Amino acid sequence: MSVNWIRRADRLKALPPYVFARLDELKARATEQGLDLIDLGMGNPDGCAPQPVINAAITSLSEPQTHGYPPFEGTASFRQSITDWYQKCYSVDLDPSCEVLPLIGSKEGLVHLALAYVNPGDVVLVPSPAYPAHFRGPLIAGGELYPIILSVQQDWLIDLTKISETIAQRAKLIYFNYPNNPTTATAPREFFEEIVNWANHYEVILVHDLCYAELAFDGYQPTSLLEIPGAKKIGVEFHTLSKTYNMAGWRVGFVVGSADIIQGLRTLKTNLDYGIFSAIQTAAQTALQLPDIYIKQVQERYQKRRDFLINGLRKLGWEMTPSKATMYLWVPCPLGMNSTDFAFDVLQKTGIVFTPGNAFGEGGEGYVRISLIANCDRLEEALLRLQQAGICYQQ
Ligand SMILES: *Cc1c(COP(=O)(O)O)cnc(C)c1O
Repeated sequence: MSVNWIRRADRLKALPPYVFARLDELKARATEQGLDLIDLGMGNPDGCAPQPVINAAITSLSEPQTHGYPPFEGTASFRQSITDWYQKCYSVDLDPSCEVLPLIGSKEGLVHLALAYVNPGDVVLVPSPAYPAHFRGPLIAGGELYPIILSVQQDWLIDLTKISETIAQRAKLIYFNYPNNPTTATAPREFFEEIVNWANHYEVILVHDLCYAELAFDGYQPTSLLEIPGAKKIGVEFHTLSKTYNMAGWRVGFVVGSADIIQGLRTLKTNLDYGIFSAIQTAAQTALQLPDIYIKQVQERYQKRRDFLINGLRKLGWEMTPSKATMYLWVPCPLGMNSTDFAFDVLQKTGIVFTPGNAFGEGGEGYVRISLIANCDRLEEALLRLQQAGICYQQ
């Protein structure tokens, strides 16, 4: 028997249940029943980190200085490599001493940024659907969440004109993410210009998550917030090595942008963690310095899977425009089904895991997210099972 006086802090009560936990239960049950799962649910890349990255980590491991506490703010050479990478990709100059901060994965920084900037009751604007850390961070901080409901009619873009004057005046931060997880939407440069103007006018901190910076197809080049004049004064941008370099388990990312905003996050983190294991920073630096051909191969891999799956889904009744970026498809549920029912139905009948769109907030209802994290053979098997189970899209 447990005692009755152990009570969790209120801040945990503010958090909606993790849909992924329920999904995990169902996955475990399906596996017990002997179903061969095709898990397209998580945003977890299916390959190894590039060999030069692994080699750099191994070499670093044999050096004694690797094994001590790393510097709080990241190693000077990793920060310099981030600066060089940014200059190369976006022609933006960054000061490695104060406009760059390595993170233990970008999720860590996205959540801690809210703790560094949000007081209880402060309004935080977060699109819905969104990557869960974007709204869970502000909720943990006690912020008042104001969801901006996105829609297919507006190409899943934030319509700033729909945010009321009162809310805009009260808002302290706005989180956004293009190319977007889960909707796969991309935003034109004009959108970034518009949001910088808006944020300047209403004095709102811009928090852009550019974790799919390189998973872009058909020659599309995503925009960095910091390319927009003035953005570096009022915004930060988060990046990760998890997706592009298959390094999700290594836990490494970084934030760039306003020195002022980053300083708050650094102060908080200095009190919480000791930064990233030096061997991982050395490896991450190697990743950022890989020749462009590596990125090209990654892009081709995902683009091939995207086209293969879109083609197969078309035969099952889904008409979809190929997304310009990310490692997902954002697929409408058959008419009359909500996202949880559809995802659970697919799992039970076929052993294929999709993520219900409502895991990303109410604005994701009516959709499922399919991750392109299996090779075309497995995707073909998935399509076959869907067909055999009679799962299709009817208007
Ligand atoms: C995958 C993902 C991240 C990456 O998180 P890490 O903690 O760096 O692994 C961040 N934001 C979005 C939108 C993602 O999809």
